[in-house]
Amino acid sequence: MDISDDIILSFLQRRHYKQLQPLAALIDMDGTLYDSMGNHADAWHKLSTELGIATTREEFFLYEGRTGASTLNLLFNRAYNRDATPQEIEELYARKALYFTQMPAVRPMPGAMKMLDFFKEVNMRRVLVTGSGQRSLIDRLERDFPGAFTPDMMVTSRDVKCGKPHPEPFIKAMEMARVRPSQAIAIENAPLGVKSASSAGAFTVAVTTGPIPREELEKAGAAIVFDSMEQCAEMLPQLVLKMFNLAI
Ligand code: CA
Repeated sequence: MDISDDIILSFLQRRHYKQLQPLAALIDMDGTLYDSMGNHADAWHKLSTELGIATTREEFFLYEGRTGASTLNLLFNRAYNRDATPQEIEELYARKALYFTQMPAVRPMPGAMKMLDFFKEVNMRRVLVTGSGQRSLIDRLERDFPGAFTPDMMVTSRDVKCGKPHPEPFIKAMEMARVRPSQAIAIENAPLGVKSASSAGAFTVAVTTGPIPREELEKAGAAIVFDSMEQCAEMLPQLVLKMFNLAI
């Protein structure tokens, strides 16, 4: 597969950038580094069913990237026409997190390590950008991806006021990496995450790792969409080279 110059050039035109200088990779966790989306969907579906709020398992794939509080507010507004109280959020999110830990083991996404290694090889700073506050997964990162993210290079739900799809998480990640938007590549798998990253101005690479069709990711603002993380990791050297070399 060849990446067409047009993908870079039309991104430059859309954003009114003259050129790109990729210095930092801003990387999502669930569905990008881990094949954890199915478990999250199951845990949310189990919780909402217990609360008597009608949902489908599939809809939770579309909420991926939201903070736990935001997903709970969405469910509460549907069922009760009000936001959840801080106390309800604390209690119910803890319950959802517990269900998540009881699900079958989550595995690192095939190709994710190769992707992280590439960014290291070309001296790009790596920043984790997740809407999750689930310690169970965040704590596993160091074991599964040793040295990939230092604690000062992580944006979690605790670090932001507004979660994805708001641009704040990616803006914060750019500040951490001390880069401008034209110097950042984002790696995402879900429409809300893609929207957040692309509104922050990053060149957003989307990867279809679940049931979400590529059109949804394109609509959300992805500059390029790959069919798997393995394909993404394979193509990144060519993509980054083109990003450095093309200008308008
Ligand atoms: Ca994700």
